[in-house]
Amino acid sequence: MSFVPRSVAAVVACLVAAAVIVSATSGLSAALAASYSLPRESAVPGGVHLIRLDYEGSAQPAVDVDGQRAMVVQDGGVWVAVIGIPLSAALAPRKVVIHDGAGRQEIDFTVGDKRYASQSLKVAPRQVDLSAADLARVNRERVIIDAALSRWSNEQPESLRLPQPVPGVRSSSFGMRRIFNGESRNPHTGMDIAAPTGTPVHTPIAGTVIDTGEFFFNGNTVFVDHGRGLISMYCHLSAIDVKPGQHLASGARLGLVGMTGRATGPHLHWGLSLNRAWVDPELFVP
Ligand SMILES: [Zn+2]
Repeated sequence: MSFVPRSVAAVVACLVAAAVIVSATSGLSAALAASYSLPRESAVPGGVHLIRLDYEGSAQPAVDVDGQRAMVVQDGGVWVAVIGIPLSAALAPRKVVIHDGAGRQEIDFTVGDKRYASQSLKVAPRQVDLSAADLARVNRERVIIDAALSRWSNEQPESLRLPQPVPGVRSSSFGMRRIFNGESRNPHTGMDIAAPTGTPVHTPIAGTVIDTGEFFFNGNTVFVDHGRGLISMYCHLSAIDVKPGQHLASGARLGLVGMTGRATGPHLHWGLSLNRAWVDPELFVP
């Protein structure tokens, strides 16, 4: 079945691809007990699985999935693991390893089926059939992007309910297989929000700018670390207003909407990475 755009947001598009690099750091700290805003659960590729741990100690448990450190937060005194599931995940049990005050345990969960539609897009030929120089550039940039996504800081994100960073129509194109100029490419790993060039983009929750740069596919991009493996990415910006290392309060402006990089019109590409897996931002929008 072919994809039929439902709105202007669905016809503007870009591509964001990511490789997975295993990275973990240690250093645990106690988290405060309070009621906490969690994302909606959807245990499918590109979704989020929540595991309420049978452990109420104050020391932060260590959680990892596929050798990747994963988020654990405190919700009303109960520890909850918040696991991102890669779009490439097989429909098979997935193992989560937990170290807490009670020892080591393994929890399996099953990834459910989700079929994402495909989407055909037309862009400049040089953005699909890359020259040797552009391919080398993309490979260099992939290393930079991987480094940004592998950042770990141990502060609990202030919330896992994230207001959209820019007003506009949210596309539902996360996970769609992309066919550029008739050629199959990687799936879409974020949410596109249609907005005019120059519209201010705001960080939904507090964070620290990891990196900024101008990338072949993503155009002008900002990466923000929100803590415990939650990294957000803002692409195709016409202007970047922040610098690496800068702390951003919730709602702080980080740049302006544009269509730099591979984009078919002005929009924000908003990516959310959890334990190095791109997850659907829609699950986090209040
Ligand atoms: Zn996009």
